[in-house]
Amino acid sequence: MTQLQTRFTTEALVIKEMNVGESDRLVTLFTRDLGIIKAFASGAKNIKSKKGAATSLLTYSSFTILDKKGTYRIYEATPIAQFFSLGSDIETLTLSQYFCELAYEFGEEGKPSPELLRLILNSLHFLTKEKRYPPLIKAITELRCAVISGYSPDLVACQSCGEFEKDIMYFNTDEGYLVCKDCKENGQGMPITLTELSAMRHIVYSEFAKLYSFEIPNENADRLSKVTQKYITVQTDYKFSALEFYDSIKE
Ligand SMILES: [Zn+2]
Repeated sequence: MTQLQTRFTTEALVIKEMNVGESDRLVTLFTRDLGIIKAFASGAKNIKSKKGAATSLLTYSSFTILDKKGTYRIYEATPIAQFFSLGSDIETLTLSQYFCELAYEFGEEGKPSPELLRLILNSLHFLTKEKRYPPLIKAITELRCAVISGYSPDLVACQSCGEFEKDIMYFNTDEGYLVCKDCKENGQGMPITLTELSAMRHIVYSEFAKLYSFEIPNENADRLSKVTQKYITVQTDYKFSALEFYDSIKE
């Protein structure tokens, strides 16, 4: 009797890890070719194992995977980029985990999501390697992730009168549209300044290559981060545990 087993190679980010038994590890991978998959790494906990580093959380690696009737086992793994370092502060670590949660919720099992993978990898890079201001990278990631996943807001003009911009506009996070201060009724939307609105338009409408090429004052980034967080959580109704922790450390 022969057992069918195929082998394939793909690159992937490790977005979850769980130790199994003495030395094995079950990892969730956001792969370039198959989207989200779960795979076993035998002997990965052994420090001398070459697989150990490559199958650690927040590592982007090249994997050779054995597929036996839909059960995946990692045969070989070589790290390409590591987005985790022991020197990272708690805010950076928490946001890195949050980006993994976004990948898990918005990625699809067995189906590639190249734009989302590119977003998550770039955000991890700008957060952990370039040390950009964390709330700004968070805001970019949340809003662009919403766009990629079909929750794009309409930021062109006031929904009621067509006004393009006023010093304060209001963003309705339930419906994903703007109203100006003259058309605003009580309780309708979060106030955003022109600086924040320009940043939001850039995040939603720019080509990917330019997505991270802008700066705003930290104070605006902090406010923007609250708006994009409200938007993505209201729109998707997902609970992100890393985000709850993030809120508790920001208080
Ligand atoms: Zn208006």
